[in-house]
This record gives sequence, C-alpha cells and structure tokens, in this order.
Amino acid sequence: MKRVLITGAAGFLGSHLCDRFIAEGYHVIGMDNLITGNIANLEHLFPLENFEFHHHDVSNFVHVAGELDYILHFASPASPIDYLKIPIQTLKVGSLGTHNLLGLAKAKGARMLIASTSEVYGDPLVHPQTEEYWGNVNPIGPRGVYDEAKRFQEAITMAYHTYHNLETRIIRIFNTYGPRMRVDDGRVMPAFFSQAMQGKELTIFGDGSQTRSFCYVDDLVEGIYRLLMSDTVMPINIGNPDEITIGDFAKEVLDMVGNGTVSFHPLPVNDPKKRRPNIDKAKEVLGWEPKVSRAEGMRRTYEYFKTVVPNIQEVKK
Ligand code: UDP
Repeated sequence: MKRVLITGAAGFLGSHLCDRFIAEGYHVIGMDNLITGNIANLEHLFPLENFEFHHHDVSNFVHVAGELDYILHFASPASPIDYLKIPIQTLKVGSLGTHNLLGLAKAKGARMLIASTSEVYGDPLVHPQTEEYWGNVNPIGPRGVYDEAKRFQEAITMAYHTYHNLETRIIRIFNTYGPRMRVDDGRVMPAFFSQAMQGKELTIFGDGSQTRSFCYVDDLVEGIYRLLMSDTVMPINIGNPDEITIGDFAKEVLDMVGNGTVSFHPLPVNDPKKRRPNIDKAKEVLGWEPKVSRAEGMRRTYEYFKTVVPNIQEVKK
C-alpha cells in the first residue's frame, strides 16, 4: 500500500485530499496543528485502518516513521483574515514548514507537491494570469506575509529539485470553494452565504467591480491528483477561468438564498482588482479542465452551509 503524508489535513482542501487518497487505496497520514483546521472534517476517517492523524505543527521538525511515497504540503492559513491574525505562523509554515517537509521528502525518497497560490501574482498586471508571469506583490503589505511565504516556498522547492534531484510538483491554486469551507473564514463565498441565510446585508468590499474566478473543490482535487502523478516540475495553474465581479456574485447568492440587500465597505489594502487563471498548461499537460459550473457548485455548497450556519431565517422571495 502506498503511503502519503498530507499536511493541513483538517483544513478545507486537506480533508478533501485525504478523502481522495483513501478512495484511491492509499495509507493516508494526516497532519495538522488545528490552528485554522477543524478536526470534524476528518472524523469520518478515524475508524479506518489506513488513516492516521498526527497533531503537529510542521514549522517544527517533522518525524514520520516508515516509508513515504508522497508528501502534499497544504498546511497554511489561507484566508486574508486568518493570515492577518496570525502573520508570523503564516510566514513560518510556508518557509520553515516547507523546508522541514522537503528534508523529510529527501530522507524518504518521496515526491513532494506544494500548494502554491494565485497570490504569487499579487495584484496582477497581466490578465488572465499565465504561469510565466512573475507577479506584482507588495512584500510589506498586509498580504505580503502569505504571498512572500508562498513565493519563498516555490523557490526552495525548485532549489531542492535542482540541487538535490528531489521530485517536486508545484500547483498554483486560484479561489476554490465547496463543502467544509469555514463559515467564519472571512472569504467571500462563506461570508455572502452566511449573511444571506441570516437575513443580513451582504458586505461588498469596494464598489464590487473587482473580479474573481471560483473553482469547485472536486475539480481542484482532480487537478492536484493529476499533477502529482504527472512528470511536470514547473508550476501549473489550477482554477476555473469563469470570471465574475464580486457585485454580480453577490446577486447570484441572493438569487439562490432569497431576497436581500447589500452594503458597501472599504476595499482591503492591496486587494487584487482582477483574478482569472490561464489554464492552457493544465489542459495541455494534464488533460485537465474544470467540469462543475458555478451554479452547480454553489448549489452543493449551499446545501453544506445549511448544515452549519446557525439561526437560518428563511427569507422568502
Ligand atoms: N469580499 C467582499 N466581501 C466579503 C469578503 C470578501 O466583497 O465579505 C471581496 C474581497 O475584497 C475580494 C473578493 O471578495 O475582492 C474575494 O475575497 P476572498 O477573501 O474570498 O479571497 P481573495 O481572493 O481576496 O484572497
């Protein structure tokens, strides 16, 4: 049985990855320090013999007994309000954490995949973003702690590949959503759904003209799996190019949940004005493209939020 270590296992993406590797017949070792992760996301896996959980912070030395075939490094605060609250941990998990895991991968002869991000492009001056674009990041702005940790993570991962011949894979993840997103993580999808479901105003930051492109989690997980199994060392964008303004997205949420209103608030500092992946590379080298439409993905996500959002008031049309 092949063995995979997944860090950030109790998080939104990490827990979906654990499910996928269990379904593929792997022995899965999930690791998380539970700062932003939620152990409830893994509860259904605890009875399984081929799943084990390690409560550990990967910014400290990481020990795993036995062989490892793959390491997927998904531990990190990932929402803007989280990395503003815990900026030093965010920098450490992307830098020290990645270094520890690369060392572990080297010792075990494992292939390592790191979760990078569209944030490496910052507030992009090239649209849509191709992998060749180097980005427009403010290193000392509020998002710098995340963006620069991820940029360093890519650099050290490539260095281990070049100088130690380590097998490495780099995925640049664009906005992703789906069941198990934390309702209070501040990101636009859980924020708008929980506000609409509780009859509150939807808080649009800025004038709502900024854009994002939302990828459903199942599509992302398929892309990660294909990249891991491929021989592609250079970074690959995985995301859904279906771009929408935040103002129009608020309308879609309101249409799905029922009538409601919006309010406008200051745009956070360095909030990217546009974001949309160019996924030509993923199509070409992985044969991957997203399959789940935003309408369908939002329906599935709404069903999840109904199970976790308290005091739902049915707002009738
Ligand atoms: N946003 C918003 N209202 C909210 C939360 C977010 O208008 O309550 C905006 C935010 O300013 C950004 C976009 O929605 O332009 C996506 O924000 P999110 O935090 O989901 O992730 P980001 O893509 O900025 O990392």
